Amino acid sequence: MKLFNTATKKLETFKPQNPNKVTFYSCGPTVYSTPHIGNYAAYVYWDLLERTMMANGLKPYRIINLTDVGHLTSDGDDGEDKLEKGAKREGKTVWEIADHYIDVFKTGFEKLNLLEPVKWARATDYIKESEALVEKLIKNDFTYETSDGVYFDTSKFPEYKDFARLDLDHQKAGARVAFSSEKRNASDFAVWKFIKPGELHAMRWDFLGRPGYPGWHLECSTIIHEELGEPIDLHAGGIDHIPVHHTNEIAQSFGAFHEKLANFWLHCNFLTINGEKISKSLGNIVTLEDLEQKGFSASDFKLWLYQGHYRSERNFTWEDLAAAKNRRLKWQNAYVARFQQTSKENRSLRGQMLSSDGEKFATFKQQIISAVNDDLNSAAAFALIDENLNNLQLLDWSVVEALFALNISNIDKDAEYEKLDNRLQPLIKKRNEARENKDYETADKIRDELKAQNLTLLDTEEGTLWQFTD
Ligand code: AMP
Ligand code: ZN
Repeated sequence: MKLFNTATKKLETFKPQNPNKVTFYSCGPTVYSTPHIGNYAAYVYWDLLERTMMANGLKPYRIINLTDVGHLTSDGDDGEDKLEKGAKREGKTVWEIADHYIDVFKTGFEKLNLLEPVKWARATDYIKESEALVEKLIKNDFTYETSDGVYFDTSKFPEYKDFARLDLDHQKAGARVAFSSEKRNASDFAVWKFIKPGELHAMRWDFLGRPGYPGWHLECSTIIHEELGEPIDLHAGGIDHIPVHHTNEIAQSFGAFHEKLANFWLHCNFLTINGEKISKSLGNIVTLEDLEQKGFSASDFKLWLYQGHYRSERNFTWEDLAAAKNRRLKWQNAYVARFQQTSKENRSLRGQMLSSDGEKFATFKQQIISAVNDDLNSAAAFALIDENLNNLQLLDWSVVEALFALNISNIDKDAEYEKLDNRLQPLIKKRNEARENKDYETADKIRDELKAQNLTLLDTEEGTLWQFTD
């Protein structure tokens, strides 16, 4: 299994410390508003990563955090706490906002059929541990205090700039105006923020003699230390995390524990619309509900994402999503074509096919796994599926499903397929009756009408089957 490691900027063979417990952490959502499809993209990509690990016989042990405190609107040390902002917007308490959007996020996660982590780690459940980490940083002399918090002194960690290849001199010049004069270096960041008298901040803990709350980056270093232990095998997130959030996590964990945080780092690129990043502030967001309302399933969205690569920026269009949906239905149809006339009880036929052609299935399976082992090249795996689509005997859908969790064979539950099938069956019957009565004009008319809708009828020994036109 080869993955592109951000830390070395190289494609490297992934070797976990213990194959039976692959420690894997991915930065989770800030739970203050409804996630858009761009927010979910990372979890769809990392789901394939986890399933690819499993296909290689590894046992992932994954933690996802839920940020319910400390993430400010600037992503830095200024601006409003995102949870406070959500509470104001909706006239609720910050705790209600967090609970609600944790539910919303998990519902989407389920819809996308993504593997649950071993634990959803909520930042506010780790306050004592976070305070202990800050105390370690203070003791190890990595911090200084300003009027608004405890700051990490990045000049005390000479490797600070290495991970993101930061140009700190440039950063200093550019940031002079924006940063408080109390900061020693522009790249210094708050590990703990003080709440000033009169300041509205409902989430508060007494620490260092006054009320305050943890800095945003602190929770990840804390949770990794508590739940997994440094260094973890793999840490994943969005590319926007490289220069600040992950760089700061690395600095904190080194400052507190003198340990490397992670051996492998994976970062995924953004989703855009008309070339612009999908984001609330631009007003161009699309949610999972929007997809559903337009007749698309979560599987269609996943398939569209997997047609590309996690390290490439992806421009979302409804036309491309429609094409992805068509591809999924085509696969689904290929899957059921052989069995659509057999009763449900006889669907175990598939099992018989699997065992009778074991060797060929093994080859196909190996080819698919090799494709995703090449830095999660799902697009190449999909090309293999298309190549084998008319060779039904060779296609091992179980490996396709295990890796991509796309609901291909789940025909009993798939409303879209059933709707189409229900519409076509009476037409097929009518055509067959016409043929029996030698009314070829009617029979051909039905066939041509379906052809115009990209549907082909196949007359086989098992009866008339339908499939999407190639
Ligand atoms: P936000 O809630 O906007 O701060 O986003 C949370 C995280 O979701 C960001 O840190 C990104 O890693 C990810 N994200 C936000 N927008 C996009 C996007 N358009 N495409 C991919 N990931 C995104
Ligand atoms: Zn993080």
